[in-house]
Amino acid sequence: MGLIVQKYGGTSVGSIERIQRVADRIVEYRQAGHDLVVVVSAMGKSTDVLVEMAKQIAVFPSEREMDMLLSTGEQVSIALLTMALHQKGCDAVSLTGWQAGVRTESVHGRARITEIDNQRIRDELGNGRVVIVAGFQGVSEEGEITTLGRGGSDTSAVVLAASLQAEKCEIFTDVAGVYTADPRVVPAAQKLPHISCDEMLELANLGAGVLHPRSVEAAKKYRVRLVVRSSFTTEEGTYVEEVADMETGRVVSGVAHDENVAKITVIGMPSNGGTLSKLFHTLALSQVNVDIIIQGSYDAEMTNVSFTVSAGDLHKALDVLEANREALSFERVDHETGLSKVSIVGAGMINNPGVAAEMFRQLAEQEISIKMVSTSDIKVSCVIPAEQTAVAVRTLHTAFGLDVEEPAVVYGRSAAE
Ligand code: ADP
Ligand code: ASP
Ligand code: MG
Repeated sequence: MGLIVQKYGGTSVGSIERIQRVADRIVEYRQAGHDLVVVVSAMGKSTDVLVEMAKQIAVFPSEREMDMLLSTGEQVSIALLTMALHQKGCDAVSLTGWQAGVRTESVHGRARITEIDNQRIRDELGNGRVVIVAGFQGVSEEGEITTLGRGGSDTSAVVLAASLQAEKCEIFTDVAGVYTADPRVVPAAQKLPHISCDEMLELANLGAGVLHPRSVEAAKKYRVRLVVRSSFTTEEGTYVEEVADMETGRVVSGVAHDENVAKITVIGMPSNGGTLSKLFHTLALSQVNVDIIIQGSYDAEMTNVSFTVSAGDLHKALDVLEANREALSFERVDHETGLSKVSIVGAGMINNPGVAAEMFRQLAEQEISIKMVSTSDIKVSCVIPAEQTAVAVRTLHTAFGLDVEEPAVVYGRSAAE
């Protein structure tokens, strides 16, 4: 039997009782003859608790010390899970990111994994042990502890699976798979048996927190067989994979939302070619991720530029703009908070015109004002007032036929045809 990489998220290891259930599941896999590398997140909301403690000391704490602090959450859960396995007679060892050979860029708070030196893991597996690895963390070339960004344990698991050429990577979480929308917001959301990597990547990037976007990127790049499933039941989950010629019969596969959107408008910048590049280069240098960009006209020589950032980056972005006011020579900056982004995603959109128009019509009928729009081949996103997010998501979910189970498909046609 082959090697499987599993990952258990925060809720799945949120209490001693739950850690015991995870250990039981690991023992079952061992008894079935599998080698196992298990990546674990910090217990429950403990990472949030650590962030909160740091905020009580400093508004902008040192990024190095934040990583030092946040990486402790995973160390608690790997040790407890390994102890639980020992109690059940299962040989296991816990490893921090550093011990597991997870090397990252020298960036704090959102480092990318650059390489995995998996020798230690392979040695431990060779000795018949289950290897329990702390997710979300690694070590930089300078020997500093780094973290991968919130939700990053999924990425730890997928990259380890790629490096170890595992049979598959199972992400165990508190829902039974990937749904057509967040099941907490849309009670009628349907579990998808399969989803393509591209659609999953869009959903994850657009706010469907069930998978860390970089984990999907890595699964696509390294062809890792990725499954999302429940840690509480044994039901089949969702396979994230390329399915050849799969005609789903649906134009839209899912609705995603992100309630942490802020909009910044830079007013009165010289409208020569170099200004835009200078503006976004300055923001990029400060690690501010910009999402939707709209350039409006002002007059022949001047321009206004609006863009969105995640609400958490707003103050950093405003500080950076203020510090570069002279170099960017703008008149003033406005900003707006309390916004969200709702998006529809589906590979079927490519060949179906009118999808965006239908989305706008549906939102207009609910008297939801659309502040910004962005599209790609397989998604349409609208920025709207945050308080209307739930209504917007449910309306779009119903309008695009997602409240009902997907019709069976026979040779690319719906069975009902
Ligand atoms: P974990 O701690 O296991 O990593 P997360 O909270 O990060 O769990 O991700 C699981 C959550 O993602 C679910 O509880 C659900 O509310 C949310 N979610 C958002 N969009 C979706 C979706 N399309 N399908 C499934 N879950 C989703
Ligand atoms: N514990 C980290 C977080 O809460 C990483 C993870 O859960 O994936 O973001
Ligand atoms: Mg997660």
